[in-house]
Amino acid sequence: MPIPLSDLSAHHAALRPALEAAAARVIASGRYIMGPEVDAFEAEAALALGATDAIGLSSGTDALLVLLMALGIGPGDEVVTTPFSFFATAGAVARMGARPIFADIDPVTLNLDPARAVAVVSPRTKAVIVVHLFGRVAATDGLGELCAARGIPLIEDAAQSIGAWRGADGARVGQIGRAAALSFFPAKNLGALGDAGMVLTEDAALAGTVRQLRVHGAQRRYQHELVGGNFRLDELQAAFLRVKLPHLRDWTERRRAAVAHYRQALADLPGGLLLPPDDPGCVWNQFVVRVPGGARDRLALALAQVGTATAVYYPAPLHLQACFAHLGHGRGDFPESEWASGEVLALPLHPEITPRQIETVAAQIRSFFGA
Ligand SMILES: *Cc1c(COP(=O)(O)O)cnc(C)c1O
Repeated sequence: MPIPLSDLSAHHAALRPALEAAAARVIASGRYIMGPEVDAFEAEAALALGATDAIGLSSGTDALLVLLMALGIGPGDEVVTTPFSFFATAGAVARMGARPIFADIDPVTLNLDPARAVAVVSPRTKAVIVVHLFGRVAATDGLGELCAARGIPLIEDAAQSIGAWRGADGARVGQIGRAAALSFFPAKNLGALGDAGMVLTEDAALAGTVRQLRVHGAQRRYQHELVGGNFRLDELQAAFLRVKLPHLRDWTERRRAAVAHYRQALADLPGGLLLPPDDPGCVWNQFVVRVPGGARDRLALALAQVGTATAVYYPAPLHLQACFAHLGHGRGDFPESEWASGEVLALPLHPEITPRQIETVAAQIRSFFGA
């Protein structure tokens, strides 16, 4: 039996009656945009995630974009971030006419190295975006203090890390920086049945601006104080997300249990494979191992041949993307990110993965390494 990377139809099968009832409720309501489902989902998400404000939006990308708009980021401004992320992180910066300033990652956590980020903060730095990659909260030691001292907003790209917390002090996603952007893309830990996103923040003024920008910058209909956009969350997606949100904790625990099982099944494998460090607050959107020595693609192929799906997040770092050629970067500028791009491999992980499937994948990996 093939083992998929994740299985959204299996994930939704048990919820099907509740999802269909939610859809029927919205269809009958006649309200499809910014109605009671969005209001209720925002309140339920704020409570579940420990935020004072939760603003439903059209996508995670738009959550990042609208935050940068609300903070007045524009041409001439610099935004410090990681080159090892999904494109949207740096794409949002560029769309505002600002310049992404990359700093390399910590090779162990794969998150932005806070010391390297501190080193590139300049008088033109108008924001810093940390990405909590694969479900793991990014360290901000020294960086958080510098941002606070200089009044530079620290933004969390928490698209992959809903519900994650920092081991050191238990701070939750959305409480670490000025605001966090969440994504409900179907493959994220809490996925809609389409596109959706959210901003979490404790800053009431910022929340107000985000709400205003979400509806073309108008506080009252046809009175536009700001130029915003259509960044609204659909009623239908909010209704689906309300069905799924109460299960998030359980799904996260199942991801943690699956990772613990992988760890045990892949322990004492001599060399060849580096496992991600343990972290009790990590929500494991992906279980990404490193395969050094140029063997990553051969391992992926060997697994594919026996029916096990894997994926590479991300095969090219952002500083080498064609659309950022004008930034003038070349190979060698951020070596940790470049090495990671050549070595990372995501193994099958989702709440419904079985112990047997994990044992099978581990046995296939062992056999590749001759162990
Ligand atoms: C998924 C993702 C986004 C974008 O979210 P969408 O909802 O797909 O627009 C942004 N940043 C990271 C790190 C992501 O993984």
